[in-house]
Amino acid sequence: MIQNNISEDLIKWYQMNQRLLPWRTSKDPYTIWLSEIILQQTRIDQGQKYWEKFLNKFPSIENLASAKESEILALWSGLGYYSRARNIHKTSKIIVKKYRNEFPSSSRELAELPGIGPYTAAAISSICFNEVIPALDGNAFRVYSRLFSIDLPIEKNIAINTIKNLALPLISKKQPGDSNQAIMDIGSGICKPKNPKCFVCPLQEYCFARKNGNPESYPVKSKIKKSLIIDNFYIIVKKHDKYAFIQRPDKGIWAGLFTPIEMDKKSWRLALKNKSIDCKSVTTLRHILSHRIMNLHFSKWNARNIPEESKVKWHSQNDLKSLGLPAPIKKILVEKSYI
Ligand code: SF4
Repeated sequence: MIQNNISEDLIKWYQMNQRLLPWRTSKDPYTIWLSEIILQQTRIDQGQKYWEKFLNKFPSIENLASAKESEILALWSGLGYYSRARNIHKTSKIIVKKYRNEFPSSSRELAELPGIGPYTAAAISSICFNEVIPALDGNAFRVYSRLFSIDLPIEKNIAINTIKNLALPLISKKQPGDSNQAIMDIGSGICKPKNPKCFVCPLQEYCFARKNGNPESYPVKSKIKKSLIIDNFYIIVKKHDKYAFIQRPDKGIWAGLFTPIEMDKKSWRLALKNKSIDCKSVTTLRHILSHRIMNLHFSKWNARNIPEESKVKWHSQNDLKSLGLPAPIKKILVEKSYI
């Protein structure tokens, strides 16, 4: 059957061409899970450094579960999407308490843990426990939608279920993790969104999109989302060599992290014109995320009356490297030495 041929070709190709990544020498679910969570929304070279830092500091799930959240957030600083850091902490505690330090082996149980979606659950269960299931992230959906020339909008459940059903017979029963990792490598290095390198692809003989000469038409998308533009306004207030920070609420963007005092646009603009407040040295940083663009405006403020003073925590310049700051705030305050 053609599915068996594809499955065998994928395994052979993977054995000869796989990317050499340090976590691939292991089938330990703790190390695989950490790599998968860290690599969500993160480049491999950057993610690898964080993966090493986490394993050095927390060599086992018990070490991670007993850490303070502030330690985890500080180590995560610079990776963004801090809900991932909080979720690895929550999941580590559940694994220790409910599962006695052992990860569950099925993708169904794994997907019930905080921060583990269907893709990550399938990646862990196939790599570590040989569950025969396709791991479908954006790269895999692109490869499969081209291979089978799926003309359904990729956001729709019908497209997702169609791809799941078509991909399942391609997953090796003996080495399901290798099948998934082969697709991951093809998706990231060969079957790229633009200019796919079909001439080196192990699927070229079978690929409908290549045969039809239109790989870039897949995956089909129904809508183009426009980026949302957000402006945030911060004031840097200094008192006796310490700076005012406020901890953000537990939910929403940058939950639980520290930022300088934030103001609404109108008050910030009025303050800039108010000579008694002495606002100076205004700067703006543009921070681009997948679906939003954030313009972060900063000014230094020598005010006597500090807004939200009761919530303010004071930190020295030396504290800033270990304080849980969102990456763009850290960039402007620490790397660009704005304060
Ligand atoms: S043959 Fe080309 S379009 Fe098809 S899966 Fe391979 S790289 Fe992608």
